[in-house]
Parts: sequence; structure tokens; C-alpha cells
Amino acid sequence: MKLLTYLLAVSAIITAAQPSRLNAQETARPNILFIFCDDLTYQALSCYGDNRQLLETPNIDRIAREGMKFNRCLVTNSICGPSRATIMTGKYSHRNGFYNNTNSRFDGDQVTFPKMLQKSGYATAMIGKWHLGSDPTGFDYWNILPGQGLYYNPPMITKDGRVKQEGYVTDVVTDLSLDWLKNRDKSKPFLLMSQHKSPHREWAPALRHLGWNKGRIFPEPETLFDDFSGRSLAVSDHDMGLDRTFTDLDAKLVPSPNMTEAQLKEWNAYYEPLNAEFRKANPQGRDLVRWRYQRYMHDYLACVKAVDENVGRILDYLDAEKLSENTLLMFTSDQGFYLGEHGWFDKRWIFEESLRSPLLARWPRKINAGATNNNIVSLIDFAETFLDVAGVQPDSEMQGRSLLPLCQGETPADWRKSLYYHYYEYPVPHRVRPHVGVITDRYKLVHYYKPDVDDWELLDREKDPLEVKNFYTDPAYADTVKELHAELDRLKVEVKETADPPRSAYGNKPFDNEPQDEQPKGQKQSKKSK
Ligand code: CA
Repeated sequence: MKLLTYLLAVSAIITAAQPSRLNAQETARPNILFIFCDDLTYQALSCYGDNRQLLETPNIDRIAREGMKFNRCLVTNSICGPSRATIMTGKYSHRNGFYNNTNSRFDGDQVTFPKMLQKSGYATAMIGKWHLGSDPTGFDYWNILPGQGLYYNPPMITKDGRVKQEGYVTDVVTDLSLDWLKNRDKSKPFLLMSQHKSPHREWAPALRHLGWNKGRIFPEPETLFDDFSGRSLAVSDHDMGLDRTFTDLDAKLVPSPNMTEAQLKEWNAYYEPLNAEFRKANPQGRDLVRWRYQRYMHDYLACVKAVDENVGRILDYLDAEKLSENTLLMFTSDQGFYLGEHGWFDKRWIFEESLRSPLLARWPRKINAGATNNNIVSLIDFAETFLDVAGVQPDSEMQGRSLLPLCQGETPADWRKSLYYHYYEYPVPHRVRPHVGVITDRYKLVHYYKPDVDDWELLDREKDPLEVKNFYTDPAYADTVKELHAELDRLKVEVKETADPPRSAYGNKPFDNEPQDEQPKGQKQSKKSK
């Protein structure tokens, strides 16, 4: 009897202790802080060591120094909205229904990782650029830029309506993120998605950064004047070149919208004298491309400079609040971007600059400082990574894989050796033809298949790191081509895209029986699709 009494007593103690034990577990779960940029490319970050040494980014570099730098984080469809939908769902575009920026709208009823974290007890917030059309779901709090958002004095939308913010968008997104962190429910672990508009086109700098480069001439990329010889028409017949697509707004020959009178005065004081010189010199041909490249680098990199400063503010807050140790801080972008390579800006292509996102992950409790990873990882892995660190089972429909073992220095033996890629949006904007492909450490096999092309290309990054040659018909590569075709076929089955995409996947403008360079009547080109 004594033993039974004892066991009952122990059982009662355990039962009584359980709520507090659970609470302790709750507080021990890591916070997740996702700092996300739009069109930020690795060449612009000093921790990625581009040979042009375009910019110093000390605060972003600190995340790399104190955590893990991923050297090959690849996207599955290199464009804004689709990348965002893939991150939210852990699924490819053809599985989450968001194919392009032109006519896709995110179905917020589907399973997303923020919803699952919210349900498991996380405080959740989404602040900044959302760009998915529908209202955010799965967040206790959201405060988002409408559409692409504005650089200066941006209006923002909350559950309660529209509020105009004063100041520069990157500072505003960080201010709101810090406000939420300060006022959050501190009894719960948090998920904060702090998402910048910057450095998206039209690359408008904070006024404090005008002239930041002090007149430095930026080195040009080797392929600024790529002639695309031996390549598919799909590659040469683009509309995203510094030589042909650069607008007056891109070039800051006209002011960015929505500045106050005082801001505009400061803006004009910097740009107008330089613009007057430009108009007088009136450069043409290659000289014009060179001038545009320099202007583009000044503006784009200034935008990144503001991101870096604001990352510093977030890092300082985490330190001051002693949150650094148990917060998974992920810093990344929705794709990479061309900084003049192939003569381009923008993204979309399977080529390395727009295929790769910078990805840095810091979590001192689990990730060794200064670590690097060279495996093929993807934005499609983020949802399952966040669920894994929070101890939540992933949804069975998700198509990625947790990065946590990699973060801890262990690559599973069956980690992916290849990744499936599919870009759809055509022809507006930028006339990049739909393409599907497979990527390995060394090779890319790509098929440009619509509407006026049916071309295969094989890229060999080892032999041709600039990706300016097509080895597809080279007899020396016959076995490689055969293997990659088989791998592409296998991946189509694995990711469940064996049928042709719906016509709407390509955007508003149908391919067939309509002229290719006109908008359908009564339909304006979506501003979102820039
Ligand atoms: Ca983007």
C-alpha cells in the first residue's frame, strides 16, 4: 500500500508539474526572424566575395561570420511572387498555384508554415513587402506594402486599413519590425518576417546615401557586352538589357514618386547636375550602356547599403534583449539579380546570378560560427526548416527538406544532387521565354519551349563559369546530356509536374493567335509585373 500511495503521489506531482514544464518548453523553443529582401543578389554582399568588390556590408557579413553562409541556395522560379509563395508553402509554383507576377493571386486558404507555427503557439508577424495579392493569413499581426510598395513615404496596409508612413521604406520596415518585437506577447516564441522592398527596381536610394560612392567608377562585369553567339534566340531576344530596356525612371533622369517637397529638393540637388552633364555628353551605343551601368550600380548598391544599416539595427536589438542566442536569424532574398552580367538587370533566368539567392543563417545554440555550406539548397526548403526548428511536423504535401542537419554540419547521404527549375511568365515584362531545366553542381540542362523556340542548352559551370556557351550538341558531352535528360524526366515525376502548365501560368497574355507585342485590349500591363 505504501508503494501505491507513493506512486500516486508521484503521479500527482508529475501531473501538476506538467503545465509549467510545457511552459518551459515553450519559452525554450527558438524564435525565428526572417529578414527577406527583394532582388538582393550575392554579388552585392562583401561576405560573398565578388571580384568587383562592389560594396562593404559589415552588418550582413556579421550574420555570415556568426553563422552559416550557404553558397548555393537556388530558387525554383526566379521571380518575386512565385518565390514568396514557394517559401510560404514549401511547394513548387505548379503545386501552390502561384506561377507569375502578372495574374497570380495567392490562395491564403492553403497550408503555410506561419499558420502551422501560429497554431503551435508562436506569436507571428509579417511586416513589409508581401506581394502575393491576397491578404496575409497565419499572422497575429501584419503591416504590408501594397503591391510593389513605394521607396519614399510608403503607404502600408494593416487589418485596420491604410496608413501612410513617413521616411524611407527600408527604415520604415525596420522601425515597424522593432516596434512589433518590443510589444510582442513575450510568453511565446516568435516568428517575425521582416520583408524589404529594397533593392527592387527602380532602386531608389535613401537620401542620406546619394553620392555614397564619392564618384568611384565601378568595375564592369566581363559579360557586360555579351553577344549571345551560339545561343538560343530565347537568350538573345530578351527585353531586359541595359542597352534597350532602361527607363528614365530606372536611370533617375526623372524623380522617383512620392517624395515631399524637401526630399525632392535634396534628390534634385544630387541628380540634376549629373543628369545635365549626361544630357550634354549624350552618350550612344556602348558608352550609353556604360553610363547606365554606373548609374545603376550607384543606386542599387545604395539601396543595399540601407538594408545593411537596418540589419545592424535588428542585430543590436537582439543583442540588447539577449535574444541572439536562441533566435534563428535567416537573411535571404526572393532571387538573385543581374548586376550587368550579360548586359542585364532583372532576374528570371536559370543562369547563376538570378538562380542563386544569398542565404545566411545564424543560431548560436545550433549553428557553428563561420560555417559554410556548398550543397544545393532552395527556398523550397525554408518552410520545413522553420517547422523543424520549432518541433512541428511538416505538412505531407510540402516538397522541400529541412536545412537543420546542414546547419549543424551534417549533410545527409541522400541530400539532393539536382534541382528542378521552371520559369513561366511571358512575354511581359522583359520577354524571357518560359524554360524548364535541371541543375546539378556542375551542369544545367535547360529547355526553352515556347512560343517560337524549341531549344535545348547545356551549361557547364566548371568549363564556362560565365555561362556564355552552349555545349548541348558537343559530342564530348553526349553522355552528360543523356544523363541530364533522364534526371529532368525523373524530377518532373518527383515534383509532380508531368502535365503541361495551364495557359494562365504564363500570365495575362495568351501566346496563340494574338500579336506578341501588344497588350490584349482594355488590359493594362500590371505594375506588379515590373
Ligand atoms: Ca524579387
